[in-house]
Amino acid sequence: MDESPVDRDRRLEALASRRFDLLVVGGGIVGAGIAEAASAHGMSVALVDKGDFAGSTSSASSKLVHGGLRYLRLGDIGLVREAHHERRLLMRIVAPHLVRRLPFLFPLYDDGPYRPWFVQTGIVVYSTLARAKLNGLVDLDRARRMVPTLRGDGLRSCALYEDAWTNDARLTLANLRAAEERGAVVLNYAELTSVRPLEVRADGRAIAVDAARVVNAAGPWVDRVRRLEDERAKPSMRLSKGAHALVDGGGDWSAALTIPHDKIRVSFVVPWEGMLLLGTTDTLFDGEPETVAVTDEDVDQILREAAVAFAGAGPVRATFCGLRVLPGGDEATANARRETVFSTGPSGMVSVAGGKLTTYRRIALDALDHLGVRGLSRKPRPLPGAVGLDRIAWPVELDAVTRAHLIHLYGSLAPDVLAPAADDPSLLEPLVPGRPDLRAQALYARAHEWARTDEDVLRRRTTGWLAGTPQPV
Ligand SMILES: Cc1cc2nc3c(=O)[nH]c(=O)nc-3n(C[C@H](O)[C@H](O)[C@H](O)COP(=O)(O)OP(=O)(O)OC[C@H]3O[C@@H](n4cnc5c(N)ncnc54)[C@H](O)[C@@H]3O)c2cc1C
Repeated sequence: MDESPVDRDRRLEALASRRFDLLVVGGGIVGAGIAEAASAHGMSVALVDKGDFAGSTSSASSKLVHGGLRYLRLGDIGLVREAHHERRLLMRIVAPHLVRRLPFLFPLYDDGPYRPWFVQTGIVVYSTLARAKLNGLVDLDRARRMVPTLRGDGLRSCALYEDAWTNDARLTLANLRAAEERGAVVLNYAELTSVRPLEVRADGRAIAVDAARVVNAAGPWVDRVRRLEDERAKPSMRLSKGAHALVDGGGDWSAALTIPHDKIRVSFVVPWEGMLLLGTTDTLFDGEPETVAVTDEDVDQILREAAVAFAGAGPVRATFCGLRVLPGGDEATANARRETVFSTGPSGMVSVAGGKLTTYRRIALDALDHLGVRGLSRKPRPLPGAVGLDRIAWPVELDAVTRAHLIHLYGSLAPDVLAPAADDPSLLEPLVPGRPDLRAQALYARAHEWARTDEDVLRRRTTGWLAGTPQPV
């Protein structure tokens, strides 16, 4: 089953015939954020992605919207303050349905890399920058109530702080939808193949695109796209692979775990979409981005590191990995600052390398600044679905768990997803066994969210893939 071909044909036609102020290359969170911000500033925008939207790094993150404790350790207070500021805006205004507060426990073991006084000081600084009340050391009984499977042997104490979690793919889709609602043309499975002249390949045809400016937000492919403009362009970044694993559990957790491994590296165990998300690894990667894959060694490392504080992880249900873009430099990857670097090529294409999901709005505004857009508004704008969360009128009866799941993924647009189910109750059946997603979501994904394949539906529009085995939908 395909998305409505009429719709896609119209968008292909618009891409071929309109004149755009801006062509954005890449529909991950950075490209989507740029399209949202540019269209909000009155620009006519086209955005293309060679695969599915959020099909690469932006569905493979640790799903944290966070200040970044690691940056504090590296002494980058400015980066932590900025990320916390963004986290607050996302939680309160931009996407309160998608970005949710989460306490984090930082366990301190006898043989761990830190002494409690050091961590307590760090957490107080972090929480002050976060303007959060939750901070400091907590007693072990309270810690075990928050994380019942916390490993007890050699545990001295636990620090507590606050960050947030999200669904990275759906945050990306919400930005694309906001851009489309303001007239942007967004097209997945459409690859930029030439910069001079501008050409995109989609559905077996070559499409000449007329755009005054181009932004390259191609994530791990950023240098490949730079070379389309200038074949002598030097490498601007390195890649580091990060893998994750999902296991059952988390229903009785009210906090995530941040597990320190050395003075800089931590790993996480995060209650996420009804499961526990474990990770991540951090290893330099010098292959072609499309070949990146989770190995047995990655999974062994993830489980070994989680076991430092998490007793009794069950079997691994799913894994995924992505590539961090580390601009320039040759430091060890865990030490490298994940800052964003902008560069402008010989024909004026602006390339964006690096950055965090958390600060995507800030990166988008900086990109517009590099394009010379004047009078930038830094005011946060609610994404589609973010307003009216407290007055949702459900068109059909649903249990509380399903309602909460749909509000999280769609916010106040959840009733639109369910509307066809008023006439066709079979759409209220589970999309896949064992997950709260409904068949109505697959219909909506294809009709309104540009999904073309089963994988687009299961992995990036819904949480169906967490059931494990692939299912036709
Ligand atoms: C393991 C890991 C964990 C992370 N955890 C966190 C976290 O918890 N919190 C946080 O804030 N950040 C986190 N990050 C960082 C965050 O995920 C990334 O900064 C962000 O997703 C990057 O988005 P992007 O849009 O730049 O890249 P991508 O999402 O990779 O998007 C680039 C897109 O460009 C497209 N593209 C490439 N070439 C072309 C072409 N020629 N034509 C058209 N399209 C093209 C690709 O198909 C792709 O979809 C993590 C990153 C990794 C790898």
